[in-house]
Amino acid sequence: MTRIFVLLLCFTYGCESSQRTTNYATNGSVFKQMLLPAPTSVRTGSGAPGNEYWQQEVDHDIVAELDVETNTLHASQTVTYTNNSPDTLTYLWFQLEQNVLRGDSIRSREGNAGEDGYAGMIISDLQVDGKDAVLSGYGTLARIDFDGEVGSGEVITITMDWEFPVSIDASLRMGYDDAYEQGPVWEFAQWIPVPCVYDDVYGWNTLPYIGRGEFYTNFGDYTVAITVPNDHLVFGSGELSNPDEVLSVDERERLAESMESDDVIKVRSSDEVGTVQGDETSTWKFDGKNIRTFAWATSASYIWDAASVEIIDLDGKVRRVLCQAAYPAETAEVWDEAVMYVQHAIKYYSDMLYPYPWPQMSVVRGRAGGMEYPMIVYCRGSSHEGLFNVTDHEVGHDWFPMLVNTDERRHAWMDEGFNTFVNHYSLESFYGEREHKPDVSKYDASKFKNGITPINTKPDLLRSRGHLSYRKPGYGLRFLREEILGEDRFDVAFKEYVHRWAFKSPRPADFYRTMEDASGTDLQWFFRGFFEEALQLDQAVESVQQQEDGVKVTFLNLADWVCPVDVVIACEDETIHTYKLPVTVWAWSNKHTQEFQLDSQVVTVKINPSNTYPDIDFSNNHWVNNNVKK
Ligand SMILES: [Zn+2]
Repeated sequence: MTRIFVLLLCFTYGCESSQRTTNYATNGSVFKQMLLPAPTSVRTGSGAPGNEYWQQEVDHDIVAELDVETNTLHASQTVTYTNNSPDTLTYLWFQLEQNVLRGDSIRSREGNAGEDGYAGMIISDLQVDGKDAVLSGYGTLARIDFDGEVGSGEVITITMDWEFPVSIDASLRMGYDDAYEQGPVWEFAQWIPVPCVYDDVYGWNTLPYIGRGEFYTNFGDYTVAITVPNDHLVFGSGELSNPDEVLSVDERERLAESMESDDVIKVRSSDEVGTVQGDETSTWKFDGKNIRTFAWATSASYIWDAASVEIIDLDGKVRRVLCQAAYPAETAEVWDEAVMYVQHAIKYYSDMLYPYPWPQMSVVRGRAGGMEYPMIVYCRGSSHEGLFNVTDHEVGHDWFPMLVNTDERRHAWMDEGFNTFVNHYSLESFYGEREHKPDVSKYDASKFKNGITPINTKPDLLRSRGHLSYRKPGYGLRFLREEILGEDRFDVAFKEYVHRWAFKSPRPADFYRTMEDASGTDLQWFFRGFFEEALQLDQAVESVQQQEDGVKVTFLNLADWVCPVDVVIACEDETIHTYKLPVTVWAWSNKHTQEFQLDSQVVTVKINPSNTYPDIDFSNNHWVNNNVKK
């Protein structure tokens, strides 16, 4: 009681040291409408894409060869760029992400290990529509100025040759791993020069690649031919279009069988690894349709497991998706279940969010600890459960952001946070019911009391990225679903968001608006407090007065955010009474008094009884009647 008294004094006279200068809850501004961008016919006020929504289409035709002797990748590339915007373009920006490992990159100059003398991407023979063009390079970005204009609806073709040395030392979401007896594993990603996204919100999106923020890319079709030694297997962001040229008859038959099988088929078994001679090369061809980038991995060490899983497509028809795993024999003890994890994730997220739109998904083992690309994910994991968790997470990214094309370099929480949120339910479905309330052990708001940056901050500038891009937004969506909106209202709105923005690029405002529009709920106070600003919640029971027919309880809202109040009152006759006070009780004051009519003496009054609210101080949530014998 003493403690509550002290808190009350602080509250009444204003405790400068413990309160922020702006207390949104005190001055009522927590309920002020958010300043969202004005709706347009591209992005509407409902949060849906408008009838004039547009995005650029960028198709790629790439012929690449991995020279394993010099460890260099050589390629020639044709980019077909369709200007679907209403604007005339006079220049175009490219991402050259391989340059992130050069000594002069922002990342290296921040003090991260680059590679001494690393050359990065070397481009030659650049042409635009058959005419020589000049590329002006600026670290991981480069600009091409057109000879003339590219009007709305026009198509240009950019061709170039390029090469880069594979970095042996540095690894960033890809890499070289030579820990295996039958040969190294190469994982390639961010390996292609790609045009930056030109969109209706920012024009050219030219945030550089520093390494913490991931990617924002254009959808398009990829045709990729990859030449490697002929004992290698290759997996990539597409469907293998020439199995007859690169697989043995047995392998082709087993692959075809796996397309009809729930059970794992060994397309290349451990006994077969190392039996092919690798003194010639073969060229693997892939088609990736409507994807936002292309990644691939190759090794002579790979064992190849495959099966498939049934999903229900948008048109209601059943379709089987090929699920593959590739891993060296040294890791087989853990990787023997990898295909099963992929099958689970593809099925689970197809049912929950949107039917997986591509023909296959491959999980491969290499240097990258966990990274996602369309139709291929790079994972490690030293136990079955560890590998399940990373595989499920990375496959989940094929919904956020491979399908819903979030600008990860600005809004990492819209892919990592959304994915962390859905992973929770997928894990529960795979392993069965566990302790799954978002309790304080999973999200402890008190740990993040001071100086926390808002979630909606560019990830390159976030200090606690694991917390602010993954755990906090993941927890916040669960809190919104389970405590604020309820599962029915949340699920219908969240699914609406995914379906509206599948194969398109939403911004935070489109998410907020869709959630309000489809759930029919004013959530501005929630989005402002949780995602846009770093407001904090501290609910308290100030006092309880016994009355003839019940109790009069005074609740306090001591910090700058607001939430509904979950109240549990236990009585002497062993009855338990639960109440949910709406968030609107905080509209005029951060002190709220309410009477509860009860037939028996009150023993305890507790708020936030399940510990699911992000309260920064749990010690003031509880009142006990010391006059009642227990
Ligand atoms: Zn992730």
